[in-house]
Formats: sequence, C-alpha cells, structure tokens
Amino acid sequence: MAFISSGYNPDKPMEGRITDIGPKKYDQFYPPVIAANKGKWLYHEILEPGVLVHVSETGDEVYTVRVGTCRLMSVTLLREAMAIADKHCDGYLRFTTRNNIEFMVDSKDKVEPLKNDLMSRKHAGGSYKFPVGGTGAGITNCVHTQGWVHCHTPATDASGTVKASMDAVFSDFQNMRLPAKLRLSMACCLNMCGAVHCSDIAILGYHRKPPMIDNEYLDKMCEIPLAVAACPTAAIKPVKVEIDGKKLNTVSVNENRCMYCGNCYTMCPSMPLADTEGDGLVIMAGGKISNRKCAPKFSKVVVAFIPNEPPRWPSLTAQIKKIVEAYASDARKYERLGEWAERIGWERFFEKCEIEFTHHLIDDFRDAAYYTWRQTTNFKF
Ligand code: SF4
Ligand code: SF4
Repeated sequence: MAFISSGYNPDKPMEGRITDIGPKKYDQFYPPVIAANKGKWLYHEILEPGVLVHVSETGDEVYTVRVGTCRLMSVTLLREAMAIADKHCDGYLRFTTRNNIEFMVDSKDKVEPLKNDLMSRKHAGGSYKFPVGGTGAGITNCVHTQGWVHCHTPATDASGTVKASMDAVFSDFQNMRLPAKLRLSMACCLNMCGAVHCSDIAILGYHRKPPMIDNEYLDKMCEIPLAVAACPTAAIKPVKVEIDGKKLNTVSVNENRCMYCGNCYTMCPSMPLADTEGDGLVIMAGGKISNRKCAPKFSKVVVAFIPNEPPRWPSLTAQIKKIVEAYASDARKYERLGEWAERIGWERFFEKCEIEFTHHLIDDFRDAAYYTWRQTTNFKF
C-alpha cells in the first residue's frame, strides 16, 4: 500500500507516468496496419528470399522486406535507413533480434520499388548497404558483440570477423537452398554477449593467457576486493609486494585456476590479458533454441583454436564455408545442423567438415549438468 500512499495507482500503472527511464512502450511504434490487426493474423508466407507476407482475417496484408545490417551502425547509415522508411513505409521500420532491419508495406505494389531502392544503395567499396535476404532455409544476419571497436576484453574483433564470414556465405543469405535455417553468431570473449552457446555455427573469441599484473598502477587504480570478487574461479588473492623500496598493495593470480575470462580486467584495468599470440578464435557448432523435432541444444566446440588474422580472417571463413557446404549437401530437409551431426554421428561430422579432432575438444566438465539441468520446455514426466 506504500505505492498508493505515494500516488501510484496499481489499477492504472501508466497514469501520469513522467519517468523517461527505459524505452517507450513498444505499441506506440506499431505501423497502423499492425496495430489494427493485432491478434487477427491468419498465416504468413515467404514469397522469395527476404520478402514475407502476413495475411489477416480482416483481409489486410503486410509485406515485409528484410535486409541485413552491420549492427554497429554509423549515424549516417541509420539516417539513411530512416529516410528509406520515410519514403516507402510511412516512417516505420523494425529491427529483428539478429540485427536485420525489416521494412513493412501494406500492399504488394509497394514491394518492388522498395526492394529496388534497397539493393541500389552501395558502400564506396561496392558492398550492399541494405542487402535483401536472410529468411527461411538460409543464413540470416549474424548476431554479434562489440569487438575491438567498443569492449575492453575481446580476444578478437566482432565486426571484422562477422563481415568476413558473412561475405563468405553471402549467397546463402540471398537464397534458401539449405535443408533448414542456419544461425550464425559471434562473441568476442567467453563472457558471450552473443548467442554462441545456442547457434548452429558460432565464432568465439578466446584468450589463452592469464592477466598481466601492473602492480604499481593496480595499487593506485583498483579496488582490490572488487578484483578478487570478480574472479569466477577464485584465482585471485590480495598480496603485498615491495618495488624500489615502496610497499604496494596488489594481487596475485593462481594461473592454474585461471580460465582467461577477463572478468578481473573489467573490475581492474591494471590486469589486461589481451595478447597477440594468446588471443584467437574457437568455432562451435550444433546449437539451437527451437523445440522443433528435438529439444534445444548447446553448441559444442569443434575447432579449438584459430589465430587472429585481421582484416579478413581467411582460416576462419574457410572453415565456416566447409561446415556450411557439408551441411548443405548431406543433411536431410528440415534437419538443423546439430540434428544432422547427431544423426550421422559427431565422428562423421568431423570427417565431412574436414576438421581435425584433438584432445581440446573433449568435454571435461566435472559435473554432469549438461544431462541433468532442465534446459527445455519439452517436459518429461
Ligand atoms: Fe566484451 Fe566479451 Fe561481450 Fe565481446 S563478448 S563485447 S569482449 S564482454
Ligand atoms: Fe579469474 Fe578470469 Fe581474471 Fe583469470 S581472467 S584471474 S579466471 S577473473
């Protein structure tokens, strides 16, 4: 009742709301045809790669043109997307969870001009600004993290690895030849802001060396209890050292316990762990979040290390291409990559994708959580 005495009315929670914290309520941004047909949609179809139609029981139709984006967008590119929405879609657009933009129009005759406009816009280097595609049994846009542009703990770049990988599989963004949808994702350290644990193919940045400790600055810059508490494996302890006759409060790292996650660096900038030889990439495969056919699956590590090779990461993109081609030619229709690997056996998966199996790929979790945790909405009684 404290709420009521402070003026909050639980029956009308939005009444007189003056806060500007958080995004505005989503339904303010519905295109009129979406708002008018909420709860009335009958079915949808993919008319061609990148173009969908949704049909309502009222007879209304919505045509959606999906385009890939680079996710970390410049203001200039964002303004261009807004201008396209103003020109063709009465100012409305939406972003999907994998960073595609969807432009929606309410009649079929508006689709071709919109598509032609989108495909005619190119960057100075020749690549499409708004490539149409990413629907159905193909590869949609790659969800990814901040990379070298913005975050402090990456073991590799996000935008660079994703651009190179999506260039390698671009034809599968534009057509729907695969047995089922294939989701690519990327996270640039194992804190995993991207969905790499549950995507068909995932790229993961990976450090292989423990943090370096700058004792002098650590004493001045860091709150030592925070750095100690940040470590998930309890590898950090406070110590005192003496340098040039000065007594310093600092930390030491038990390297055998360290799993190179970079959490301590988040708390304490005097513990960097980026390293040219140590840092690189892992490829994971076989994850999914859908309940169709079988329960959702976690991705498994299939390539334990690929060195960083900016700006085009050729070893990474060649391996991804091999996995996609093996899946395209061998899987059955509607079979996701992980389902295919389990049907033929992971040994055959490694053969068909031309991946060497090493001891680094053996799952050595001490606890059988993978088998015991309830991970799905597929209930078994
Ligand atoms: Fe930063 Fe790691 Fe997230 Fe990449 S995955 S943005 S390095 S926290
Ligand atoms: Fe602990 Fe991670 Fe830092 Fe290693 S990198 S010391 S595991 S917080």
